[in-house]
Amino acid sequence: MDSNHQLALRCAAAVPRGISIATPMFVARAEGGEIWDVEGRRYIDFAAGIAVQNLGHRHPRVMAAVRAQLGAFTHTAFQVTPYEVYVRLAERLNRLAPGAAPKKTIILSTGAEAIENAVKIARAATGRPAIISFAGGFHGRTMMALALTGKINPYKVGFGSFRADVFHATFPDVYRGVMIEQSLASIEQIFRADVEPSRVAAIIIEPVQGEGGFNVAPFEFMRALRELCDRHGILLVADEIQTGFGRSGKMFAVEHSGIAPDLITIAKAIGGGFPISAVIGRAEVMDAPIPGGLGSTFAGNAVSCAAGLAVLDAMEEEGVIARAQKLGEHVAQRLRAMQGDSRFDCIGDVRGLGPMLAMEFVRDRTSKEPAPELVKSITAKAAERGLIVISCGVYSNVVRMLMPLTMSLELADEGLGILEASMLDALAKS
Ligand code: PMP
Repeated sequence: MDSNHQLALRCAAAVPRGISIATPMFVARAEGGEIWDVEGRRYIDFAAGIAVQNLGHRHPRVMAAVRAQLGAFTHTAFQVTPYEVYVRLAERLNRLAPGAAPKKTIILSTGAEAIENAVKIARAATGRPAIISFAGGFHGRTMMALALTGKINPYKVGFGSFRADVFHATFPDVYRGVMIEQSLASIEQIFRADVEPSRVAAIIIEPVQGEGGFNVAPFEFMRALRELCDRHGILLVADEIQTGFGRSGKMFAVEHSGIAPDLITIAKAIGGGFPISAVIGRAEVMDAPIPGGLGSTFAGNAVSCAAGLAVLDAMEEEGVIARAQKLGEHVAQRLRAMQGDSRFDCIGDVRGLGPMLAMEFVRDRTSKEPAPELVKSITAKAAERGLIVISCGVYSNVVRMLMPLTMSLELADEGLGILEASMLDALAKS
């Protein structure tokens, strides 16, 4: 097999630069919380395929379910010749989603596709065109999802124009002093300046902004949004694509605030490594589009559905939520200790929910000026030392923890040790 370097050259020649690659290595295999590259080097994985491998790579239950499904059939197109695994997964997800109202679920393939469908369903259900999302939010790279995404560079550069009936409100940011009242006022400002509430179909929010920097929406804010939506007949959509399936220490992050959204978009971790997404919602809302109005060739692929059911089984049987909470407490303690270490006054903030934790790096703690170059250097040094860890944030100055939720505390500690050493490397260089 070619070396990492040879593969990088072939990749640069064959693949467009628009896909910006975070780590200069090529994967040969992965297991649990570890990855090995084509040269046999081992890495601890704090990225988990961007919050996908919550159960670790190649979870035995998922592998067995996929193998069994491969032995039966792979793809028939659910809308042509349906099959039970899809229905069973929809039933399970309907039971899991918060709120007492009866639910229905459409299963799709990618996160962006779930977002597109949530918008279609919300418009069909309300007969209204406009959608409000949040600055700093990320909802995907297809055109509507991209319009909703609240970060220009790099996601939207060169790809506009975007739909005129999408409006971005201000997301609360406790660290930078953006309070709940300001965020709510920004929605009232949209109602005054841009669109009347009776023309708004939905407000879509990540309960914890993922790509935007692991900003937690205060629970009180989530409850205020629920109340505001009810007042105006607007649907509340929770984008749980990154936060779902234990990542926040609960099955869904909205459970922390106790609210029930009208629609929930999910993807990533539900597939245990296979492409699948879904929109779960109140049955009457979900049934608004006419027969034939929803679907796609691969949506609800049988192999992915089998993987999804295995993920839910494994989460239940292995107490993954409880493990996630324990991991979260442990990692939070370690990150807070780093923040308290005088060598690391570059750490402006440590925040998150459960094990969905991140550190924001700044030039100094008073000005809070973002330090994106430092973060770039830290993640590069980490890869050299055998840790895959990725950044996020509106200013690209946040290092996020996305290790498998099943990772042992020992392996997590080994990874955190590498992270700490990489931070010292990067600081010495800067
Ligand atoms: N919403 C959120 C919150 C996400 O984190 C992502 C992916 N990072 C998406 C939507 C888009 O999902 P996908 O990449 O599967 O289209």
